[in-house]
Amino acid sequence: MPIKREFSAGGIVYKKGKGERGKVKDKDTLWLVCQHSQHKGWVFPKGLIGDHVEGESVENTAVREVKEETGVTAEIIQKLEKPVQYFYSFQGEKRLKTVYYFLMKYIKGDITKHDFEMMAVEWLETEKVLERLSYQSDKEAFNEVLKMKNWD
Ligand code: ATP
Repeated sequence: MPIKREFSAGGIVYKKGKGERGKVKDKDTLWLVCQHSQHKGWVFPKGLIGDHVEGESVENTAVREVKEETGVTAEIIQKLEKPVQYFYSFQGEKRLKTVYYFLMKYIKGDITKHDFEMMAVEWLETEKVLERLSYQSDKEAFNEVLKMKNWD
């Protein structure tokens, strides 16, 4: 049986703000990470392309999923070069998922207003992100973002 393939889109969202230590450092960059309600992993927000709106673009899916899953409205700055890919099993069936992530900039929104798909949503300082993320492939995506200079 061929492996079922799935395609998702999501956002790696940043904003400038005060760090969690509360010092006045308005230039600190904070990153939006969340904890998935089912598998409990710490991830970036994302969702299946074409699942909610037929024919929806990768970009619109990414922006909409960020909004629904975290309460944050963000704008796309740049698409990541390398998509995240992983295998997983669902009801005994092997699946290969490809996730297209975009670097995004916070516009507005409140992280307390997210849907049930995420059990926690947080803004984390840059140096805390890699240690919080649960999956190696997401860490690689964040490492690609760290090499981009357009968020700093
Ligand atoms: P989507 O958000 O794309 O609609 P979903 O929320 O239904 O998907 P996933 O987050 O893809 O589901 O999780 C499906 C399975 O894949 C879970 O078992 C999860 O632990 C695992 N998983 C999620 N992200 C990764 C990753 N980056 N690398 C490896 N495994 C992952």
